[in-house]
Amino acid sequence: MMECCYIKEVVKGFFSLCTGMRVTMGNVFTRPATVQWPRESAPLPDRFRGHIMMLADDATGYPKCIACTSCARNCPSQCIIVTGKKPEGAKKKMADRFELDFTKCSLCGLCVEICPVGALDFSRDYALASYTRNDFTTMDLLQELGSPF
Ligand code: SF4
Ligand code: SF4
Repeated sequence: MMECCYIKEVVKGFFSLCTGMRVTMGNVFTRPATVQWPRESAPLPDRFRGHIMMLADDATGYPKCIACTSCARNCPSQCIIVTGKKPEGAKKKMADRFELDFTKCSLCGLCVEICPVGALDFSRDYALASYTRNDFTTMDLLQELGSPF
């Protein structure tokens, strides 16, 4: 009687193993859905929204922003601080400070849509990490661009 149960268990185990192997072999030659982060990155959808970023003027390399403050006044989360002044001899103002509190931003896109000179866009930056939230409460969007001041 004991031997009969033992054989039954062995047969059951064998079929269970075959079922597992069938699933494994079915996936061996398919394209992996994962990537080898951080050496590789997954392709981002076109409509991906990272934090907002300042665009540069093609001619000067300076920020495109004319410090009209439309984005800051219309931001529903009140998370933009922008100030500006006229560089010497220039006709238009230019931003000398543009800070984003990304911890409050809802990525609604109002600031990007409302900007009269198309100075803002969404970045493709999705790998943000820090030990302190302060790095995201005052993100300096002018930092990587040239400045006349
Ligand atoms: S995306 Fe929306 S919430 Fe974020 S800064 Fe722009 S207007 Fe404000
Ligand atoms: S709306 Fe555009 S031009 Fe006006 S302050 Fe914002 S980024 Fe600068």
